[in-house]
Order: sequence, then C-alpha cells, then structure tokens
Amino acid sequence: MRAIQDADVRGKRVLVRVDFNVPLNKSEITDDSRIRAALPTIRLLRDRGAQVVLMSHLGRPKGKAVGELSLQPVAARLSALLSAEVRFVDDVAGSDAQAAVDGLDAGEVLLLQNLRFESGEEKNDSSLASALAALADIFCNDAFGAAHRAHASTEAITKLLPAYAGLLVQREVEVLSRLLEDPARPFVVILGGAKVSDKFGAIERLLPMADTLIIGGGMANTFLMAQGLGVGQSLAERDLVDTASQLLASAGSTYTTVLLPTDVRVAHSWDGSARVVGVGDIGDEDAIFDIGPSTAGAYARAIAEAATILWNGPMGVFERTAFAGGTREVAVAVATSRGVSVVGGGDSIAAVQQMGVADEIDHLSTGGGASLEFLEGRVLPGLAAIPE
Ligand code: ADP
Ligand code: MG
Repeated sequence: MRAIQDADVRGKRVLVRVDFNVPLNKSEITDDSRIRAALPTIRLLRDRGAQVVLMSHLGRPKGKAVGELSLQPVAARLSALLSAEVRFVDDVAGSDAQAAVDGLDAGEVLLLQNLRFESGEEKNDSSLASALAALADIFCNDAFGAAHRAHASTEAITKLLPAYAGLLVQREVEVLSRLLEDPARPFVVILGGAKVSDKFGAIERLLPMADTLIIGGGMANTFLMAQGLGVGQSLAERDLVDTASQLLASAGSTYTTVLLPTDVRVAHSWDGSARVVGVGDIGDEDAIFDIGPSTAGAYARAIAEAATILWNGPMGVFERTAFAGGTREVAVAVATSRGVSVVGGGDSIAAVQQMGVADEIDHLSTGGGASLEFLEGRVLPGLAAIPE
C-alpha cells in the first residue's frame, strides 16, 4: 500500500479517515485508546506542514444527526492529547465544513462531524464521497477498525483523491501479516468469546497454522458437545456441532494440539452461586460461564511456552467478577510470556485493560471486526482501495 510518509503533503489539505469510534458513557469518553492510536499520523502531517482534516464515525446514528453522538468531545480530548488546538465543525461535508477547511493554516487540525450523520456514508455513496473529496487534495486512511467496510469515507473516496495508508493502518497490516506468514514457533492461538459462528472463519484458517489452539469462552461449549458431552443450559450452537467435530478431526492431520476445557465454572444464572465441575459432570440446569481453574492452569502452561501468541475472545463472562478468573489467568499468562503477543477484539482488549496487563502486550489490535476478517484472510475493502 502507498504509505503516507512517502506523500508530499507540505501545504496540502490532507483528509484523514480515523477510527474515533470510542466507547462513551453519556458523551463522556471512557477509553481514548483509539484516539491515541491515531496520534502518530496526525503528528507526522502537522510536522510536515499539512492542513489536517480528520473524519470518523461514532456509534450508529443511522443517517441522521444525534446529539449524543457528536464528535465534539472527541475533538476536545484530541486537543488535550496533542497539546494543540483542534477545531471542530458541526457539519460533515457541506458549506460549513468547506468554510472551516478554508480557514486552516499549515499544521492546523480540524475534525468534521460524525460521518454517519449522513445516510450516504454506509451506502458508499459517491455524491457524499465527492463532497468530502472537495475538502482536500490527498486522502489518508488510518482507520484500521473501519477497513472491513466499503463506505463513502473508506472506499468511494479513494476513486476521487490520491489515497495513502496511515501509520496505524500500516502497523496493523504489518503485525497481523507477520503472524499469518511467518510466526516464531511455537505459535499459540487462543480463541474465545461468545460464539463459534462469529469466529468460524478465523478458527478454520488459524487451526492449521497454530502449533496449539486453545479454545475457551462460550465458543468452547459447542466443542464440548462435539466431544459428546452435555452442556446443560450453556450458550451453544447445536447446528455447528458437526462442524466443530470436523475441525477437531482436522487438527490431527496438521499436528495441531487443540486444548479444550476439562473443568468449568457453572451456575444456574449469571448472578447465581457458582461451582466448579469437571466437563463430564455438567448438570441439566447448569450453564457454563467460565473455564475452571485446572483448565486455566493448563492453558497458562501452554502460553508460557509460546514464541508467538494471538488472542481473540475472553475465556468466560469476565464482566462478572465470579466468572473473570479464567480470563484473568490467561491474560496474565499472555502478558508474562516471553513470546510476541497480539490481542485483538473489543472485549478482549477491555479484558486485558481490566486485568491491568495491557502495557505488557506487544500489540493491541485496534480493529475488532477488521482484525478478525484480516486474520480470516478476507480482503478488506478499505485496504484494497489504496493503490500499491
Ligand atoms: P471480542 O470482542 O474480544 O472479539 P466476543 O465479542 O466474541 O469477544 O466475546 C465476548 C463476549 O463473550 C463477552 O461479552 C463475554 O461475556 C461472552 N462470553 C464469554 N464466555 C461466555 C460463556 N461461557 N457464556 C456466555 N457468554 C460468554
Ligand atoms: Mg465483542
């Protein structure tokens, strides 16, 4: 991909698609990691004397202006992080936006209003893309988290302006590609989260590449069923049990060790009292909400031996203290392992932050769905649209 550091940006207006889709609690930003992740590209452009026009989506306003989803608070936070003024305009690509861009000097930064206030954004609409393109001379995509969507600000716009990849996009692609192409071994892949169906493509692709595949979370329940075990009231996908059996059978021919829970933490409901049981002793009324301690210990030992670790998906309902133990033990094992560690997925990143080990992870992938699709080997339209 053409890289932004190779573009001649001095005195030019550069329109940068960023991913400022931050978690909010009533317009209060609860985690600014995504804003921080965009700083290197913004700093590079300012230092080189570009006029920097930033655009992002936030939440799901579905094509109309929604006050609580204004990007104004994000402009304020970005300004604090940059220690520089960041202008904001309550317009996406109309005459107010144009006037705001016209008022920018070299090195100044402007943030446009939430792209999804315009219905054309998610429709990859060419007239919205033209209006956006009229604001700038060069387009830079630094929104890895939005790269799996063909939207006006990620795809249609690349037909209208010279397009470049930002530093964050380049780094994500580099780290994830290296994992897929030539991981140092043993390569341990940890997959968890709610459902097999969300991550089926990733399991299928990563299983033959991994030396060890560790499965936890709600996803493991379907695999337990594939082993002929009863899972009571647990979240499980009955229609995927055969698929899960086939995946387990295929592991033999690729010499992949698959680790599944041998004990689990169950309860009758999330707030019910929890017990640890062997996977052969799950009652009809029980639901599995976490891996058990002996499973967590076995997973941690496999992780300790890894040279490369990829983790996507928590081991249990970690939002509840009673069911956070498995995720915590895995998070600590990943953080203390000498292997290169990559963690992706919104909830997984929230989990490593909650466990206080985020700084010990080598790469936190900012794109939830985008990282997963990249790992599945799918073409991401936002990346494919940037010329070589
Ligand atoms: P990520 O965002 O990291 O990709 P997912 O969204 O796939 O992860 O999965 C996270 C969700 O899975 C969490 O909300 C967690 O509570 C849920 N989960 C994990 N284990 C279980 C389980 N055994 N039963 C039900 N839900 C689970
Ligand atoms: Mg999630």
